[in-house]
Amino acid sequence: MSVETQKETLGFQTEVKQLLHLMIHSLYSNKEIFLRELISNASDAVDKLRFEALSKPELLEGGAELKIRVSFDKDAKTVTLEDNGIGMSREDAITHLGTIAKSGTADFMKHLSGDQKKDSHLIGQFGVGFYSAFIVADKVDVFSRRAGAAASEGVHWSSKGEGDFEVATVDKAERGTRIVLHLKSGEDEFADGWRLRNIIKKYSDHIALPIELPKEVAAVEGEEQPAVEWETVNRASALWTRPRTEIKDEEYQEFYKHVAHDFENPLSWSHNKVEGKLEYSSLLYVPARAPFDLYQREAPKGLKLYVQRVFVMDQAESFLPLYLRFIKGVVDSNDLSLNVSREILQKDPIIDSMKSALTKRVLDMLEKLAKNEPEQYKSFWKNFGQVMKEGPAEDFANKEKIAGLLRFASTNGDEGEQVVGLAEYLARAKEGQDKIYYLTGETYAQVKNSPHLEVFRKKGIEVLLLTDRIDEWLMSYLSDFDGKSFVDVARGDLDLGNLDSEEDKKAAEEVAKSKEGLVERLKTALGDSVAEVRVSHRLTDSPAILAIGEQDLGMQMRQILEASGQKVPDSKPIFEFNPAHPLIEKLDNEQSDERFGDLSHILFDQAALAAGDSLKDPAAYVRRLNKLLVELSV
Ligand code: ADP
Repeated sequence: MSVETQKETLGFQTEVKQLLHLMIHSLYSNKEIFLRELISNASDAVDKLRFEALSKPELLEGGAELKIRVSFDKDAKTVTLEDNGIGMSREDAITHLGTIAKSGTADFMKHLSGDQKKDSHLIGQFGVGFYSAFIVADKVDVFSRRAGAAASEGVHWSSKGEGDFEVATVDKAERGTRIVLHLKSGEDEFADGWRLRNIIKKYSDHIALPIELPKEVAAVEGEEQPAVEWETVNRASALWTRPRTEIKDEEYQEFYKHVAHDFENPLSWSHNKVEGKLEYSSLLYVPARAPFDLYQREAPKGLKLYVQRVFVMDQAESFLPLYLRFIKGVVDSNDLSLNVSREILQKDPIIDSMKSALTKRVLDMLEKLAKNEPEQYKSFWKNFGQVMKEGPAEDFANKEKIAGLLRFASTNGDEGEQVVGLAEYLARAKEGQDKIYYLTGETYAQVKNSPHLEVFRKKGIEVLLLTDRIDEWLMSYLSDFDGKSFVDVARGDLDLGNLDSEEDKKAAEEVAKSKEGLVERLKTALGDSVAEVRVSHRLTDSPAILAIGEQDLGMQMRQILEASGQKVPDSKPIFEFNPAHPLIEKLDNEQSDERFGDLSHILFDQAALAAGDSLKDPAAYVRRLNKLLVELSV
């Protein structure tokens, strides 16, 4: 045992303590994954060393083969993992094994309910990594030394996985990391060659470097124990370099968990090799669940980049657009230089063409998922639909393709679930319908009951109901799909085109003519509150409605801009009334100008309320309404 100096005890960050607690209680039925997580880290550490050694070959320190070794001691009840990767300094060990660097972690932890069943699902979203050692161990010792540092600069990190950990400086001759797990009582089944071999085959076969176990040699009585011989138990080749037909689904799935640091299987993947002017392989995955930090600006995104099988960087963001930031995977290029940097990636024209090809691949993969596995696609949309809605604004070239992947709620049922695609909408459109109708609003309940839908309900025309905050903004980037333009049913002078018969149109014109006097009276009464007054074609049941001007901001956009402190141009609504409604008839026959004024303001305010808007002068509304109620009761 070498001398330990500068020993100190430090507390775990609060979030680590919470994670440890959650993990130990949620993963008891899947304990063996600790090995996958630790091997995944060791493999990453070797990747990092290999990359740094490109410019600093001395880091290889004489260059033994890069590998991971797993051993065990039945008597001492330990399992040991050793890698000769990049290693950690004392400071590295303190930060990497004592804190969680992911932004938004504290927030995430706040969402834990304390109900272990529910919370155990959340852990998948988080990724457990190194701390999973404590699922099976009640004490973990880590001995590590950074490649290139002196042998005297090793670190010994040790913890029981409770509130704190110890670090000390020790001598460590070999570079890299050795992790010793002191198994909890009852977990000694893991100190077994067959068990370890099976776990490695099951979860880590795809790891591209050799994972070795001691060869089982039967002890001969009376003879000295022979020196340990090691044997490689995994396939040890980069998964994406193998032909698709030879890779099993389980292998793709395990590889995903390694690259994505995810816990669950992916929803779908796409593995391709491109040859020709550019040469590269890609293996792209759609995760099953959105990570907790999907909307954090600094959250990790991007692919793992390899150049000719050598790992070059994590989170290479230049290969996919932002709205596909949830895609995980690897890209391995034969054309890039090994010393490529993030800055170079941003400017390299090779990257641009790879980016557009990879984007297409992802969109194709999603199209296939939607077509062949609609239930899976539903789940995809629940998780990532909001992000996909950023697509049309960011990716002009693929607008139509992205639009085809969008899903909306509609008047066709399903209680607000976003399940209707545009192709499906058009396929069941009314004969002669050459528009895609939609309505935006705050909540599903509000839009579902909006008076704007009355005429559509009467004619049996489906309307898409858009209530996500991003929707109005999204629609400002979508003008048409499959040659049919989008029409906001709350906007402008609704023209149903071919859906109105000639007789309908003629009748409407005649009504409009006969109500010209009423229109003028209303204009005078409502004055500055309205941009225009006209007879409505939208209404069957309600007396009046407010429409938005063709060029005006919708309510959602207005609210978003106002909330962000921006000045919003003032726009006035158009007041439309339903000439067949008894209240309007009453209004038309009203002789007293005072009562006419009160009643028209009440109708105006009611229309605003029905649209989910707030009243400019609620007290005036109440006063007018009460006045009428009093008159009514005498
Ligand atoms: P993640 O791998 O998701 O970053 P972990 O908790 O598994 O999270 O590991 C935290 C960090 O500890 C890693 O990012 C890495 O910097 C460091 N680390 C873990 N295992 C090793 C290892 N075997 N060699 C070098 N560094 C390691």
